[in-house]
Amino acid sequence: MSFRSGWGGGQGPAPGLDKGVDTPMTHDVIIIGAGFGGMGAAIELKRMGRDDIVILEREEDLGGTWHVNRYPGLAVDIASVTYSYSFEPNPDWSRLYAPGSELKAYATHVAEKYDLRRHMRFGVEVTGAVWDEDTAEWVVTVAGAGAGTTEVGTLRTRYLITATGYLSQPKLPDIPGIETFAGTVIHSARWDDSAELDGRRIGIIGTGATGVQLVPELAKRAGHLTVFQRTPIWVVPKVDFPVPAWARSVFAKAPATQQAARLANSAVLEILSTVGVLNFKYGRGFNSFAALLAKAHLFSQVRDRTTRRALTPEYSFGCKRPTFSNSYFPTFGRDDVTLNTDTITEVRPEGIVTGDGTVTELDVLVLATGFSLWEKNFPAIEVIGRGGRDLGKWWRDNRFQAYEGISVPRFPNFFSLHGPYSYTGLSYFWTIEAQMVLLHRLFDEADRRGATTIEVTEEANDRFLGDVTHRLERSVFQLGSCAGSHSYYFDPHGEASILRPSSVVSARRDAHRFPLTDYAFA
Ligand code: NAP
Repeated sequence: MSFRSGWGGGQGPAPGLDKGVDTPMTHDVIIIGAGFGGMGAAIELKRMGRDDIVILEREEDLGGTWHVNRYPGLAVDIASVTYSYSFEPNPDWSRLYAPGSELKAYATHVAEKYDLRRHMRFGVEVTGAVWDEDTAEWVVTVAGAGAGTTEVGTLRTRYLITATGYLSQPKLPDIPGIETFAGTVIHSARWDDSAELDGRRIGIIGTGATGVQLVPELAKRAGHLTVFQRTPIWVVPKVDFPVPAWARSVFAKAPATQQAARLANSAVLEILSTVGVLNFKYGRGFNSFAALLAKAHLFSQVRDRTTRRALTPEYSFGCKRPTFSNSYFPTFGRDDVTLNTDTITEVRPEGIVTGDGTVTELDVLVLATGFSLWEKNFPAIEVIGRGGRDLGKWWRDNRFQAYEGISVPRFPNFFSLHGPYSYTGLSYFWTIEAQMVLLHRLFDEADRRGATTIEVTEEANDRFLGDVTHRLERSVFQLGSCAGSHSYYFDPHGEASILRPSSVVSARRDAHRFPLTDYAFA
């Protein structure tokens, strides 16, 4: 088999990869995903002196969600001082909430600075991984041009880290006739810059965080925009402004000032999340205050009572991720924008048909319909562990679970960065940095003992699952009214198992303190 020269940064054949054949070469670590999670794990392992790290990425460049998502209006919805690695502050964010392109540039900068690019292999689709009991290695199945072939090949590795993101499998709505639409269809995560939007009749399905960012931008360009809303979203004001030059200069000269801003912003988010959402039992008043703030925001921006009512959620604040925007609600005051809350029954070549048979004729259909999490993403690839345990099947037959959000019994040397109960809900960087601490401790311990396998015990996993289950009992997910929220936080068992029900401070503390005896080292 021949390899294309792109493998290994254009330096010849890919070590350890062969079509359908296991080669003697076994990597130390394979990381799947070159987004901020995968890069964080690689940075930590490199700090520990490990260098045989291969990062496999199905896209053609790094950055994960910030490489894939390029739709108009894309920006972070956590302030940029917080939505970045604490050890790599960026004094140059142009706004409090940086646009998506700056996140992509930041990811590139991090990859260059921490010498990650030479570990990355782009255009490689990983389809599965199987634990080989005899050799105590993972056998990883790959395909794709970046692997030098479109046929299947295998790689072997001692440790396997999946960093495949929570929101990485775009969801196409299951609406009858959608494939018959004669105009242009664009999913938000597959944005097509060449699509003609100016003066067109545009329809958008979806009013999640993506829809909220896209709607004002589409309205600026459309001849007429129709927003198809199934479930309204809680929207709170976005306190956003360009970061003045003097502040950037202060951040550059005295990084401690940016760290202070980061801590202040994180503290506000932490209070909102832990009091109003995770401890809803005691923080109902706080939760109601957040809902009131969002309603006041709506009231101040939308004069029409019927429109206001249509835009007001009926589920509790926090059941699904709320969003921030100052430009979303005013869009519905425009004459060339229609909010349509009727049920979509079908799509025809000329447009969308809603409940009463009305056809809205469209030239462009934008799908801001989110991502398949539970159908395709837990896990994103087939993972077969010790004794043939199939991770996806096991999670579905039992409950979604992972010790510290990262480890699963019978999956030795396997770490799922985006596993159940991993995400602390605020800036994703808090999550990955806690995971970096955890990985450091585990790899350190394995090295100290001369062990070749690290595996969480069943007892520790059960204890962790019991603990998060108990903590969720006081959350808005169990005590609030979440029934009509259509929230992707809830798994097929009806449990809000994406979020780790703890503050970011305690998640980080746990990463530093969990007993190493919770793992078997052999
Ligand atoms: P989402 O929150 O899952 O929203 C998808 C939207 O599409 C919902 O309004 C949903 O309605 C609607 N939808 C899906 N299928 C439909 C159908 N068949 N018929 C009618 N409506 C349908 O996805 P998202 O907006 O892409 O956001 C996902 C997450 O990405 C966010 O929660 C956030 O964490 C992240 N995000 C972050 C940023 C940022 O930081 N800048 C920006 C965008 C997104 P229902 O609610 O009724 O299901």
